[in-house]
Amino acid sequence: MNSMVCCQNPEALSNADSPFTKIVALEFYDGPTGGILQCETCHTVYQFDMLDWDDHHRVRIFRLRVLPESSWERSLQALEKAEPPPRWPVWVPCKWPDDARAEANTKLSKILNQAKPAELVVAWLGYGERILAARKFPPKELDSEPAWLSVDDKSKFRDWFPLLGLSKEKTNASAMEKNGGNADREKERQEALRQFQNLADASQFKSEGPYPTRDELHGRP
Ligand SMILES: [Zn+2]
Repeated sequence: MNSMVCCQNPEALSNADSPFTKIVALEFYDGPTGGILQCETCHTVYQFDMLDWDDHHRVRIFRLRVLPESSWERSLQALEKAEPPPRWPVWVPCKWPDDARAEANTKLSKILNQAKPAELVVAWLGYGERILAARKFPPKELDSEPAWLSVDDKSKFRDWFPLLGLSKEKTNASAMEKNGGNADREKERQEALRQFQNLADASQFKSEGPYPTRDELHGRP
């Protein structure tokens, strides 16, 4: 991995291996949709939530808010009773003994309340293995924007793809092509996805926010 790739240098985060090699997915839908992550290069810790994705949930666009560096250890401590144990690059804590989840959520919300206004928007592939684009924005442009899964009316959203030099239409159209041209990698990804989903299903993982069901997302009654 290129050690110069860092969140402090968004221009370098264009079609690059991700410096976010540790992601705690506190929210998960076919992949991380929100949580806490750390930059491997500068160790900055961020809270992240999702602003947009393509129809195949492959390209995902996130808003990042800086957290105090101690938040990383504090978050892991808050989640110490969660199953499975931490694993990287993506950890999905999804199983909890007794009331440990409520306890962890209380601790986590205290940690996340310390987040600074968002300045950075990042587009990545799938589980975050590859960064497609990143850009700084003035915080006032970002903080009032709704998270993608929190609002049903999608007309309220900005079109984030072109703001990062990407095209949602092209991304959607090229998905099939990529599957054909990159069959092994796609197979690997699908297998990883299946394992995460089994894990999530086994623990009846549910997000606590007002998340749409799969049917709602696809516009079925
Ligand atoms: Zn960094």
